[in-house]
Amino acid sequence: MIIAGIQKLTTLDYPGKLACIIFTQGCNFACGYCHNPEMIPTKSTGHHDPDLEPKKILEFLSRRKGMLDGVVVSGGEPTIQPDLIGFIKKIKELGFLIKLDTNGSNPQVVQKLLDQQLLDYIAMDVKHSLEKYQSMVKKDCKDEIKESILIIKSSGVPYEFRSTILPYYHSKNDLIRMGRAINKSEKWNLQTFRPLRVLNHKLKNEYPFTIEEMNDFIKVTKKYAKLTSIR
Ligand code: SF4
Repeated sequence: MIIAGIQKLTTLDYPGKLACIIFTQGCNFACGYCHNPEMIPTKSTGHHDPDLEPKKILEFLSRRKGMLDGVVVSGGEPTIQPDLIGFIKKIKELGFLIKLDTNGSNPQVVQKLLDQQLLDYIAMDVKHSLEKYQSMVKKDCKDEIKESILIIKSSGVPYEFRSTILPYYHSKNDLIRMGRAINKSEKWNLQTFRPLRVLNHKLKNEYPFTIEEMNDFIKVTKKYAKLTSIR
């Protein structure tokens, strides 16, 4: 496991639970709007922090038993870590609930984690319509995304799909296609893009959708999934 950081407490990232977040280093996508581009390389280029060694993280978690409900395993993209399953197993053995944040590119890893009953909540990003996915993430992954959506929807584990949308990439028709791809889902969080630090510098001066535009999207997409958060 290469761990890039830890947030020791969150009340927001694991619905209804007190949790900490572990950020894994490395991602197999390259989304233009990525707010953490330094998390994309599979090896951290910054100062090596010995407190982020997996052993130290597990020691920290054992000191948090009874104080935290769960652990959010996020990234980067956690499923590209070769020893993810063993690491999550050790966290579960400490008695924590696990929420996995994933980009959906490795359905077989998600399935293995589910088969071993290691997940209690899954959040998957849906970045674009299946037709345009590759242009957004710079990887041919349409089949994997479709498979991950199916696995997650039928897992029996609470889940949510999340989409960050912005005029530079998404049209109303794209939103309708994204809705169709996750049709009849429990939760879909639509988030407007905020022009902060991003991978694609062209986006720095881009504007988010207006409230009127977001309301229009809600009208055309709400039949596909329960929109639980629109920010
Ligand atoms: S999947 Fe997430 S971490 Fe990876 S490039 Fe896209 S936004 Fe960044």
